[in-house]
Amino acid sequence: MLNSLTGEFKKILGTENVLQDPADLICYSYDSSPYESIPGTVLFVKNTEQIQKIIYLCLNEKIPVYSRGAGTGTTGASVPLKNGVSVVFTKMNSIHGFNQENLMIDVEPGVITGDIHNFVESKGFFYPPDPSSLKFCTIGGNVMTNAGGPRGVKYGVTRDYVVSLEVITGKGEIIRTSAKTAKNASGYNLTQLFVGSEGTLGLVSGITLKVIPKPRMTLTLMSEFPGINQAMQGILNIFKNGVLPCCIEYLDANCVNLIRNRKESAETLIISEVDGFEESINTQLSLVEKSFKDAGCNNIIIAKNNEERDEIWRVRRGLSPAIKKLGYSGKISEDICVPRHNLPAITDKISEISLKFDIKIICFGHAGDGNLHVNFLFDKNDADEVSKTHRAIEELIENTIMLGGAISGEHGIGLSKRDFLKMAVGEVNYNIMKEIKKIFDPEGILNPGKVFI
Ligand SMILES: Cc1cc2nc3c(=O)[nH]c(=O)nc-3n(C[C@H](O)[C@H](O)[C@H](O)COP(=O)(O)OP(=O)(O)OC[C@H]3O[C@@H](n4cnc5c(N)ncnc54)[C@H](O)[C@@H]3O)c2cc1C
Repeated sequence: MLNSLTGEFKKILGTENVLQDPADLICYSYDSSPYESIPGTVLFVKNTEQIQKIIYLCLNEKIPVYSRGAGTGTTGASVPLKNGVSVVFTKMNSIHGFNQENLMIDVEPGVITGDIHNFVESKGFFYPPDPSSLKFCTIGGNVMTNAGGPRGVKYGVTRDYVVSLEVITGKGEIIRTSAKTAKNASGYNLTQLFVGSEGTLGLVSGITLKVIPKPRMTLTLMSEFPGINQAMQGILNIFKNGVLPCCIEYLDANCVNLIRNRKESAETLIISEVDGFEESINTQLSLVEKSFKDAGCNNIIIAKNNEERDEIWRVRRGLSPAIKKLGYSGKISEDICVPRHNLPAITDKISEISLKFDIKIICFGHAGDGNLHVNFLFDKNDADEVSKTHRAIEELIENTIMLGGAISGEHGIGLSKRDFLKMAVGEVNYNIMKEIKKIFDPEGILNPGKVFI
């Protein structure tokens, strides 16, 4: 059925934008999760009209449509499960307009997030969401996963900067979700409904983002704690002391050992940043220092220049590659988020789970938001290890929910967490979400098999 549409796809997009060679298709069969599945056809789109025509064709033949940005997602959300089309947005990558009076920028979905940063910062403005993948992920992927990053603690996540979207629904309708205004109280908030919807409600063809003035100064600190409990207490002290750093990143002892390549037991690290007007920086700094020292912090290193700042962030950014070098064949990363006051309880639970199941767990993340990346490392060819890892993950998820938390803080549900969604949000909410999907995608052609079982 799909092959009979090849001629039509080529007419709409041009031959060079339709891939069907198996060697090409493999490149679009995976993301940054363990899931893989080869698409029937890959289509590169460049404008809204083309997308609408593709949706109409696929709707007619009931062919699944999988949207794809850069494929850096960690949950399998862009992996094409069934024999459908992968619609790739990387060639739809123009920055259209930046209105400094409105503090808004119009971009196409395939723009690399880091390019938006560079563009607005060169003009003295700031787009805060900063997923660590920002040099290669797309803004469309960020919107559809509601991506976060270290700066979320002060500035929020992608959701907080999306003003309006142009979307093509699963019925082929083209909608603008909101006026491009600073405020809007006209009916339901469709923009926010689409943010984080992982390609299941519509294909995003245009994005209007809010930007803010660039902070004048930033100061980066790396603080060493004798253990997890002291580090967590230090984080909680910060909020009680009335200061809001722009980053509070946590690295457990396993991370520290990895990065420094030390054999002895190492301390827990917190990387934090304060920013704002120069006049406020020292006050913020002393409040953070007090918060950490009161909790038993051993040592605080303050970056004196950009090189030292980069060196501190190198430690944090080096984590994922360093984990790969450990040589485990299996790695599952959970992305839980708990109310901040429950950070000590969840970190205790993670240590307990690691001991109980005898599994290596490496934990780091945006602790200032209560959002931790919990990495389970195992031998994927050993059935016992695989089974106990899954039991350990279930125990983590159950405890996260019991502590009032969410099963994903920023990566989304995709394939990897869909089994847990009903438990996390409750049956009534789950069914409401499924009903909402039917409104925008009555034939179920958009990213089928994702988010819901
Ligand atoms: C090293 C590394 C570090 C990371 N760090 C972070 C981090 O700090 N914070 C964080 O939040 N994430 C992080 N991620 C995860 C990932 O980068 C984000 O989820 C990112 O938002 C995905 O963008 P993408 O362009 O790769 O989207 P993809 O992975 O291609 O797609 C993600 C989802 O968006 C949908 N989609 C993409 N474009 C469109 C569109 N135009 N219309 C409709 N649906 C669309 C897809 O169908 C899919 O459901 C990291 C990943 C890696 C590999």
